Amino acid sequence: MQIGELIAYLETIAPPSYQEGYDNSGLIVGDSSIELKGVLISLDTIEAVVDEAMELDCNLIISHHPIVFKGLKRLNGKNYVERVVMKAIKNDIAIYAIHTNLDNVYQNGVNAKIAEKLGLQNTRILAPKQAFKKIIAYLPLEHSETTQQLLFQAGAEAIHSFDQSAHVSFAGNKKNLVRMEVRCPTALKGAVLSALNSATKNDVSFEVLSLENYNEHVGSGMIGDLAEPTDEKAFLEFLKNTMKAGVVRYTNLRGKAIGKVAVCGGAGGFLLNHAITQKADIFITSDYKYHEFFDADGKIIIADIGHFESEQFTVDLLYDIITNKFSNFAAHCTKVYTNPVNYL
Ligand SMILES: [Zn+2]
Repeated sequence: MQIGELIAYLETIAPPSYQEGYDNSGLIVGDSSIELKGVLISLDTIEAVVDEAMELDCNLIISHHPIVFKGLKRLNGKNYVERVVMKAIKNDIAIYAIHTNLDNVYQNGVNAKIAEKLGLQNTRILAPKQAFKKIIAYLPLEHSETTQQLLFQAGAEAIHSFDQSAHVSFAGNKKNLVRMEVRCPTALKGAVLSALNSATKNDVSFEVLSLENYNEHVGSGMIGDLAEPTDEKAFLEFLKNTMKAGVVRYTNLRGKAIGKVAVCGGAGGFLLNHAITQKADIFITSDYKYHEFFDADGKIIIADIGHFESEQFTVDLLYDIITNKFSNFAAHCTKVYTNPVNYL
């Protein structure tokens, strides 16, 4: 099996189009047509992880954080990013990053895993994204039925009814053209367009627009309820233990039981207002700065558990996703502790 086959499967779970603009998820080093020997899963790709991959005879590292975020102008090993890339290339090890696209999916995503660890129920995405495309197509009448079927199979849903009154015919064009309007999740745009082209044998004109609707299955953070309202201090203890946090930095308690919990793995401060508006009692995330803690303002408790700590179970998540689907290659979770932060 080629590396590309595993990547294609991962991208059905976390489509690359769902990554944030600053991100660099995807195949960072390596060739997707290489035969897959084994996979090593890690939160970060540091040199020790590449060494571990070599020892385990894994030629693919799947990393949550991309080792390369911005353009590399030189490769002379003067910093850890260059050294990791050089070592991986020299040793025929591919590196694939599955970062904010995995953060942004409701099912099997980073935040779903945190919510599972904390026992949250009735979960939903905290800040859904506008992640739908509208496709308007003009195609010959004789292809309309097959096209409709294939578009639906590819994941599209009808917006406009395809009745006869929707037919248009252009002057000088002898064909009777049908106008079809469908919408699909952004991630399925490619599949829907290829269905459209194949059903019409490329005899089609179409335009693609972005819709303003929110897709409840795609977006940042997650919110849910505890099974029972829990005392604030008791919940913070539970949080520290469950998330194996070296330290939990939190804002003033409010003298109110914790029932609704908002979470965001990694740096989630930008979601604070969503958590407050949706009446979360606590917002659990990481990378908070001193002045940002004041924004809790008595409306919520902010709890910063550390970046690595908030996302550490992503490794288990990816391991389960891969091993539930494939058994024809070895998959390993890294034993390297990649957290660059220590606690006294
Ligand atoms: Zn992160």
